[in-house]
Amino acid sequence: MQVTTNSLDAYWMPFTANRDFKDEPRLLVKGEGVYYWNHKGEKILDGTAGLFCCALGHGRKEIIDAVSHQLSELDYSPSFNIGHPGPFELASKIAALTPDTLNHIFFVNSGSEAIDSAMKIALAYHRSNGQAQRQRFVSRERSYHGVNFGGTSLSGLMKNRETFGTLLPGIHHMRHTHLPEHSFVRGQPETGADLAEDLQRICELVGGDTIAACIVEPIAGSTGILVPPVGYLDRLREICDRHGILLIFDEVICGFGRSGKTFAAQSFNVTPDMMTLAKAITNAVQPMGAVAVKDEIYATVVDKAPPGAIELFHGYTYSAHPAACAAGLATLAIYERENTFEKAAELSPYFLDAIFSLKDSPLIKDIRGYGLLAGVEVVPGAAPGQRGYEMMKELFWEGLHIKFTGDVGCVSPPLIFSRDNVDEMMRIWRRVLARHGG
Ligand code: PLP
Repeated sequence: MQVTTNSLDAYWMPFTANRDFKDEPRLLVKGEGVYYWNHKGEKILDGTAGLFCCALGHGRKEIIDAVSHQLSELDYSPSFNIGHPGPFELASKIAALTPDTLNHIFFVNSGSEAIDSAMKIALAYHRSNGQAQRQRFVSRERSYHGVNFGGTSLSGLMKNRETFGTLLPGIHHMRHTHLPEHSFVRGQPETGADLAEDLQRICELVGGDTIAACIVEPIAGSTGILVPPVGYLDRLREICDRHGILLIFDEVICGFGRSGKTFAAQSFNVTPDMMTLAKAITNAVQPMGAVAVKDEIYATVVDKAPPGAIELFHGYTYSAHPAACAAGLATLAIYERENTFEKAAELSPYFLDAIFSLKDSPLIKDIRGYGLLAGVEVVPGAAPGQRGYEMMKELFWEGLHIKFTGDVGCVSPPLIFSRDNVDEMMRIWRRVLARHGG
């Protein structure tokens, strides 16, 4: 094949139907506020904050200026055995926001890297503690923890796993938390806390003292917005404590205001031992992820190593990149100054009312929602995911960006959305549904 200049062929797009896309490309060429513009000059309302990440919307000058200034001062610093001021300041700021004792921040470049790093930190902690036999991990069906081998092995999505062989050994999956009676339940379902007993059953099967960590998204995001039943996360916490298992919350989507508080751990009042973060940490202006680690884990791994020795043999060339740290600091400053998370919490009831009003459409199979996060599930077409994919494209050409996972539209607008933006979004949903008799 001859690749020509400006051909669409050379770029292999991730998680994309490449051939279909290249027949009718959807290119974004500009972003400002809560809008994108496509290559035809049409305005697109951003209903998923990019991919759950642009909490402050697009084109925030303060963040862009901070990145630009940083790059002109120091474009790169080695990340091993040498530092620069950025991550020390950013880690302190993040640690001030995290719950309780999660005061140590390990920077990475994505959510997937955060997950793999958290798994390795869990293993390192247990080894330092004389419990090297703890090598198993427990996750959940319908979970998404990124696409590195750790995250893929934890994943509870068949499509994300089936191509890639046997994956990591020693991973056990609990059942997901979405029960039939949870259809159209707004907020936390009242039933289903007992599904957490799956963790206890796994402990009884393989030995609780062989499990390093249990990893869950507080609200499962990419797999269709599954809100945890009342008491479910508390129950996981209790079982983890009983068996000495670390509890890790994957807050890559939930973190930084999406749930109405800074972290979902605070919304649900359950404190994990580690949290994985990414996305809105920099408003997605620069790639960055992080693992927030509780004091005892840091102290155990770091203090038990011989003096002068590297304590954790793990890290990336771009860990705590100066541009990402600058973006993170500027982003956190805006969150604080504009009370972004409080405003998002205030908008949540209006947003959820609007989204749940779609219930009357015959094309809608189910709706879930919490904070500024909602899953709108359409009735499947000929094959699972087909209608969702078509709906995503139609909404886009009608002026609304919504990410679909299978048949579930993941509505997760920038936290700076106004009521008018919500109304505009709903008009577009209605227009597209009406065209299909809904
Ligand atoms: N964990 C969760 C809960 C996510 O939603 C995602 C991405 O959507 C990831 C991890 C992976 O993040 P990334 O795509 O930055 O690697």
